[in-house]
Amino acid sequence: MDHTDKIVRARIAMQKLCPFIYLIITNMDIKPWDGRDPVRHETAWVDAYGHMRYAPEWIASLSQEEVTGVLAHEALHIALQHVSRAGTRDVEAWNAAVDAKVNDIIVSMSGRIQCPHDTKDMQYVVPQNHSWGPFSDIDKKSAEQLYDEIPKQKSKRPKAKGWDIHKFGDKSEPSDSKSSDGKPNGRQRMSQRELEGLERKWRELISQAAVLQRMKGDNPGGLLEAIDGILQASVGWRDLLYSYITNEIPVDYTYRRPSKKSGACGVYLPSTESELLRVVCALDTSGSISREQLSQFASEVAAIGATFNNVEVTLITCDAQVHDVYEYFGREVTELPGLKLRGRGGTDHRPVAEWIEHNRPDACVVVAMTDGYTSFPEDSGPQDWIWVVVRDGAQEDVFPFGRVVRIT
Ligand SMILES: [Zn+2]
Repeated sequence: MDHTDKIVRARIAMQKLCPFIYLIITNMDIKPWDGRDPVRHETAWVDAYGHMRYAPEWIASLSQEEVTGVLAHEALHIALQHVSRAGTRDVEAWNAAVDAKVNDIIVSMSGRIQCPHDTKDMQYVVPQNHSWGPFSDIDKKSAEQLYDEIPKQKSKRPKAKGWDIHKFGDKSEPSDSKSSDGKPNGRQRMSQRELEGLERKWRELISQAAVLQRMKGDNPGGLLEAIDGILQASVGWRDLLYSYITNEIPVDYTYRRPSKKSGACGVYLPSTESELLRVVCALDTSGSISREQLSQFASEVAAIGATFNNVEVTLITCDAQVHDVYEYFGREVTELPGLKLRGRGGTDHRPVAEWIEHNRPDACVVVAMTDGYTSFPEDSGPQDWIWVVVRDGAQEDVFPFGRVVRIT
């Protein structure tokens, strides 16, 4: 049987075996290499966009059960956002963690599906009874938890590899676990906006697919919990903001000469204001956010201002209008001086956007803590927005733009 037939049969098999994976597969772009593809590999690769490419001769050499396993494996990488969630982690350890996670789900499925067999020289990452090497309870852990358990020292890791390649970004070369120097092999992170768009697209599909899977009542390898983890936004807002800031600060940033401002407050600051990264944090004091949560948020943003000395954080409090403005910039913050929580009325984020337009037009990111029961500005302006939403706040789909992170 040739590779095309095997892929078609694998799709059909998946429909019966696992409706969740089947729905993801129907939204993927699966093709053999066409010769123009600059990235060639002897097995298969997948990226965060849902592209999967495979070597026809490899697929032809596998059993039908293995081809079904390969297709499910790549679909699960996309569904569980393994490619976009890599962040700054060590590539090899991350690859091993995500392969252990998806293969554990596959080996837990009952039916005609199998992971490809081991090659002579090295074993594939395939768990047995939810264990792989020294790692157990894989079905109860997220890929991030597994990653944290994998020793960062190569010699201490179980000797195993994945059969596929996980491409971390559009322009990147695939991050092959064979990369000799262990560096992120040409990995280029997607832009924040691109990542947001992609995550939104897949999350919608994943929530639909999860409903089908629940109806079937089948939960191989903790699949349903893994899906819930994705749907409940796995990244905390602090991590998100920190990674945003560290991505935006140029690596070769140098202080040329002390500015006038730095003479006054005794710290070295960049010489021109244009080199600053401006962050605006908007604290919604109107709704269901407790005083404790508000002060916690405020001290976190103040700490960010103190951590990076070329990041200026402006904190504003708002309800239906902007009330107070605080600046945090390269200063040690032990306690927030006099954060007044005036206004516990209705909420409107349009005055916030107007305030930014007039007072901080060059801010690059806005972090807004809110319950989401507010009037939204028409558009985001030039800023990226991160909505930090309290647990009982509005549903994600009411936010017209930006990234929504829920506090759990
Ligand atoms: Zn993989």
